[in-house]
Amino acid sequence: MEPGSAQYILKHTFGYDRFRSFQSDVIDHVVGGGDALVLMPTGGGKSVTYQIPALMRRGVGVVVSPLIALMQNQVAALDEAGVRAAFLNSSLSAAAAAMVERRLRAGDLDLVYVAPERLLTDRCLRLLDDLRRGPGLALFAIDEAHCVSQWGHDFRPEYGQLAMLRERFPEVPRIALTATADVPTRAEIADRLLVAPRIFVASFDRPNIRYRVVEKRDPREQLLRFVRDEHAGEAGIVYCLARNTVDEVAAFLAAHGVRALPYHAGMDAASRADNQRRFLADDGLVMVATIAFGMGIDKPDVRFVAHLDMPKSIEGYFQETGRAGRDGEPAEAWMAYGLADVVQQRRLIELSDADPAYKRLSGAKLDAMLGLAEAADCRRVRLLAYFGEASAPCGNCDNCLVPPELVDATEPARKLLSTIYRCEQASGFGFAASHVIDVLRGKTTEKVGKFGHARLSTFGIGAELSEAEWRLLLRQLVAEHIVEVDYDTYNVLRLTEASRAVLRGERTIELRRQAAPPARRRRAKRGAPDTGAADSPLFERLRNWRAAVAKEHGVPAYVVFHDGTLRAIAEARPSSLDALAGISGVGEKKLERYGADLLGLIDAAG
Ligand code: ADP
Ligand code: ZN
Repeated sequence: MEPGSAQYILKHTFGYDRFRSFQSDVIDHVVGGGDALVLMPTGGGKSVTYQIPALMRRGVGVVVSPLIALMQNQVAALDEAGVRAAFLNSSLSAAAAAMVERRLRAGDLDLVYVAPERLLTDRCLRLLDDLRRGPGLALFAIDEAHCVSQWGHDFRPEYGQLAMLRERFPEVPRIALTATADVPTRAEIADRLLVAPRIFVASFDRPNIRYRVVEKRDPREQLLRFVRDEHAGEAGIVYCLARNTVDEVAAFLAAHGVRALPYHAGMDAASRADNQRRFLADDGLVMVATIAFGMGIDKPDVRFVAHLDMPKSIEGYFQETGRAGRDGEPAEAWMAYGLADVVQQRRLIELSDADPAYKRLSGAKLDAMLGLAEAADCRRVRLLAYFGEASAPCGNCDNCLVPPELVDATEPARKLLSTIYRCEQASGFGFAASHVIDVLRGKTTEKVGKFGHARLSTFGIGAELSEAEWRLLLRQLVAEHIVEVDYDTYNVLRLTEASRAVLRGERTIELRRQAAPPARRRRAKRGAPDTGAADSPLFERLRNWRAAVAKEHGVPAYVVFHDGTLRAIAEARPSSLDALAGISGVGEKKLERYGADLLGLIDAAG
């Protein structure tokens, strides 16, 4: 290996043996001065594709990054790897910022992370002019580049103004990076920020994430079982739609012995920042949050993401679940989903004051998400297909692991539709789900008595299905627009054009029946190392040592070493520095800093 080559830096600075997917192609292209657009899922390994070129080219690499927390983590991680890096953002005092500027002018930094609004100031642009004349500008990296998209949910106006970089510094290569995959966003980024870029699109598959969707029955209890019994002591994120649910769920989990913290925009900034800091620094905290939490959360050892409310689109679902398992170790994406989710999301679209075209688009995105939630076949195949990627059944989602049984439910569906129709006919107005199901099952409730619905020909014709089964069927019918929920009028059910096809027998309905999943999670993962060493005493000792070092250095534990690296050490038990250097994740700087300690620990473990 030639010193100074990309491969050499990967091994000696970052401690990795091999490039992933097209990392080395991107690096070659950017080192050669070309513009690049890199689309890779979260955890794919985007950072080294600009960090290594920044080290190889003359001058400093300028990284535009929208989130302060992310910058701090990146800089801390680079620092641990022995790379000279700093950031410029509003969290720095004037004196500290001046110090960074001095180091830049002295050519004393390889990478500088800058907030977009800061970069656009006159002062910063003049600094860049000076650097260009002096120590040099290696490249501009624009992270979270989808923020430039006016249609996207993360739109930031400052990002649009970054277009000026290519005019002012045409000779400096640009690399834009994002984990957002859809095609229009790609085009927008290339168009607004880059010049004749080469576009690199990685597979969006995250094979280590297991997808699972469960029927929402008693969501908190279900969540508690999932978090406490299946992911005890592990770090995870629980997403809820509303702020008050966040508070309630965090308190509920905490009351049941789970270390959980809330995070939402309604909290005061200080406690929010504090909770985020604790989540990042700690090994096994659960963050209960609205989707305000997460973008730029660079914590690789998040073991699960749970959704208590369904996301609005597959993009959202993919992005949120993608925060699990960035370290490549097994992780789980879990969602509880029920009729209320469908109703609530459709309603949010309906009641918004967006223009009709936007509402239609939102409706279509929601339907795609519903299709994924209702799927009886491989969820990963569906997910990837949405991003234009063909794949085979994955073996690592609930439907692959426990294939649901499909039963013909055309007859029950017709009974349900007839009952909706007859209730409305008899009374002159519609009824909501619970009453319709009571009529079907022949329950003599107060309401049934009041409206005389026991006299309907459909009263009691559906006793063969349980209430839960009727709800499941109804939800499927709503998801497929065969039944509509009228949000303006007490969520009453209404028939649609599509109902007629079912009633006339032109369309059949299949109902998914899923057996209960095995109680304990199997840690199966394609191509993953056996995680048997996870519980070995040496691994635990290494983790404790890491926690102490992290505390001493004031950085999150994973910045010192990832779990995967500690596990590999616990398994291989290297007895020399050379052997230790061969382990993935152990770079030169870390070997120098921690090698002796680690060998001591291994030795002591006998
Ligand atoms: P992204 O920015 O795409 O979400 P990162 O750049 O943070 O992902 O990389 C995710 C993780 O993968 C990091 O911990 C990083 O150190 C690791 N990684 C990156 N490239 C490699 C590689 N070639 N071999 C092993 N690990 C890698
Ligand atoms: Zn699957």
